[in-house]
Amino acid sequence: MAKKVEWSKKIEMSHKRRGKRMCRICGNCRGLIRKYGLRMCRKCFRERAEQIGFRKYM
Ligand SMILES: [Zn+2]
Repeated sequence: MAKKVEWSKKIEMSHKRRGKRMCRICGNCRGLIRKYGLRMCRKCFRERAEQIGFRKYM
């Protein structure tokens, strides 16, 4: 059972690391915008800017 616990811990950690700095929509980590908790890349941001309420912010 101890091994299982170790595994789940490892997976949890890797998940946390992965989810730290990447676009939550496409998974891209380049040009990430973390302002206002957006956590999405510029590409996705531009695609969704109008839906969210931003208008040609960048
Ligand atoms: Zn993206």
